[in-house]
Amino acid sequence: MGDLLKGKRGLVMGVANERSIAWGIARALADQGAELAFSYQGEAFGKRVEPLAASVGSDLLVDVDVTDDASLDAAFATLADRWGSLDFLIHAVAFSNKDELTGRFMNTSRANFKHSLDISCYSLIELARRAHPLMADGGSIITLTYGGSNRVTPFYNVMGVAKAALESSVRYLANDLGPDGIRVNAISPGPMKTLAGAAIGGARKTFRHTEANSPLRANATLEAIGGTAVWLLSDWGACTTGEIVMVDGGYHVLGMPQSENL
Ligand code: NAD
Repeated sequence: MGDLLKGKRGLVMGVANERSIAWGIARALADQGAELAFSYQGEAFGKRVEPLAASVGSDLLVDVDVTDDASLDAAFATLADRWGSLDFLIHAVAFSNKDELTGRFMNTSRANFKHSLDISCYSLIELARRAHPLMADGGSIITLTYGGSNRVTPFYNVMGVAKAALESSVRYLANDLGPDGIRVNAISPGPMKTLAGAAIGGARKTFRHTEANSPLRANATLEAIGGTAVWLLSDWGACTTGEIVMVDGGYHVLGMPQSENL
């Protein structure tokens, strides 16, 4: 427990269950005194998120599908009504059709390309625009990305393109919102055992490969990702914006696997 985020309020989007990256972040933020609101995608997820939110003292839950403007309107009206302002936003939302997260990238369909980019990238832009008026005293926005954005990872396919667009959006948003004191960054963990992670073809092999070869010989943990979010949202992160922060055991620095694994 600490008080690095005491007095700060923010919305956490993307908790599906206790393995979600967003939940690891939420726990770390609550441990540092932040007051949290949660969004969930539909009633079934809502039932799972409610007790988790309660365990960190939150009863402010909003039902949001990021492709549905009416649900976004309602969520931001609730936040404006209850809090009147927002200090931070966690965007841990992504989706692609599982059938296209296997096989060849060139088989990506137009429909799934649009849908994946809409949910996994455009939603950050939409949310930043909506959060902006609530961040009159400045704020901090974090999204989640993956190294498959700029290096090919087997079967990551269209999600790699979506993450590349997301990372570029982080830089453009950081520049747009910087004069208003709003920082925008991404955390890029290595592979994690979550619902979204399991949707990617060969997920177990990818997980084991990065664990065996990263400099730290370990994948990211929810605690380490949460701690990174605390830093970025706190005043210690005051001069960092437009950044993609790697939390991947150092895997991204490698040019080839460790010799013991060849
Ligand atoms: P998760 O399945 O726990 O979370 C994904 C969340 O996205 C869910 O809460 C789901 O409800 C939400 N979502 C999907 N479509 C939505 C929509 N239309 N409207 C609103 N919410 C929607 O998985 P996770 O791994 O915790 O994913 C969180 C973020 O972390 C994603 O951006 C993911 O790409 C990223 N990430 C994951 C890994 C990994 O290996 N799991 C690695 C790096 C980055």
